Amino acid sequence: MNIHEYQAKQLLARSGVVVPPGEMAATPDDARAVAKRLLAEGHPRVVVKSQIHAGGRGKGTFKSGLQGGVKVCATADEAFDRAWAMLGQVLVTKQTGPDGREVSKLLVEAAANIKRELYCAVLLDRSAGRPLMMVSTEGGMDIEEVAAKTPERIVKESIDPATGMMPFQARKLAAALGLRGDLVNPAAKLLLGVYRTWWDCDASLVELNPLCVVEAPDGKRSLMALDGKIGLDDNALYRHPDIQAMRDLAEESPLEVEASHHSLNYIKLEGSIACLVNGAGLAMATMDIIKHYGGEPANFLDVGGGATVEQVTAAFKIIMKDAAVKAILVNIFGGIMDCDVIAQGIVAAVKETGLKLPLVVRLEGNNVVAGKRTLADSGLPIISGDSMADAAQKVVKAAVK
Ligand code: ADP
Ligand code: MG
Repeated sequence: MNIHEYQAKQLLARSGVVVPPGEMAATPDDARAVAKRLLAEGHPRVVVKSQIHAGGRGKGTFKSGLQGGVKVCATADEAFDRAWAMLGQVLVTKQTGPDGREVSKLLVEAAANIKRELYCAVLLDRSAGRPLMMVSTEGGMDIEEVAAKTPERIVKESIDPATGMMPFQARKLAAALGLRGDLVNPAAKLLLGVYRTWWDCDASLVELNPLCVVEAPDGKRSLMALDGKIGLDDNALYRHPDIQAMRDLAEESPLEVEASHHSLNYIKLEGSIACLVNGAGLAMATMDIIKHYGGEPANFLDVGGGATVEQVTAAFKIIMKDAAVKAILVNIFGGIMDCDVIAQGIVAAVKETGLKLPLVVRLEGNNVVAGKRTLADSGLPIISGDSMADAAQKVVKAAVK
């Protein structure tokens, strides 16, 4: 699960990471009220920031023509105007793809006087089986590009999960960021807070891009997270009801949300051949073999090891709502499941949904003979595939017809 920047900043602040004062606003009036309060508190300017689950907002473009999803404002009325221009509009960034995302929330926060833009992230280093903190002096940039062109500008510190991040590690990274003197201790505290956020939230990723050296009107320098991104491990969400409440369904594809209600693991893709498979590994292999025979998968769909008739029916309904689908491939291995139960589920689902699309079914495993007989006896135009290769070739052919 992903959350918005304003929510990530709330979680970061809990662990002592300094973020600019600000508040979420869902209407232009709210934006003006928050801006007014911040300006009255003595902040010389505010920033109005589009909240979508994608980065690159600053350099993004709205379909309305407006440039930039992050705007600095000097007055509350200007914040109102900016909010008016952004809310309800579709913002296209490097990360959203050409369809963009509709902006329905804003973060209005105090504008900082930026002296340096740095980068900091914590993620899981799977090869080491440990958390990893990465920092870079190249903040505010596309970090993949920094990693590709100037990998030496990314400094990494592997963390022992048993002890957590140690203060000496935080000071080492602060030094690598070129932070000296009065900034070393606050930097170490901030980096430790970023790690603690990652750990306490069961996050898969915490990223500050940029983490900034900012200057107050009195000339005093300090560190502040100006952007925050947190990705969470869905398997651990049950431990965090407060974070679960941050889920924004409007940011997720409607079909994926519906699938999650039936405990189906569904991800929409760009192709025309829908797949309904049990087990993530088999689902990946099925997508591979469809591509191998020249087709393009329309989705990844794992109905899980013990799929029920209800789940199979729900899966068919979800697949059929995707207008791009031209043919369906069901590839089920009956290890835990009885193939005949699945076959009955398929027949029931096809009848219930009035499926008109070509359907290729490949069953293998437990009670497969009875399962194939159920399909054949159903009188439905179901194409049987004998092996994965056979089924994939048949479905690719059916999709181009
Ligand atoms: P994105 O990464 O989606 O473009 P950011 O939150 O990183 O969005 O904002 C883009 C840029 O806008 C930042 O790199 C920073 O230069 C500037 N910015 C963001 N928030 C503030 C702020 N509170 N004060 C001053 N500048 C900001
Ligand atoms: Mg950013």
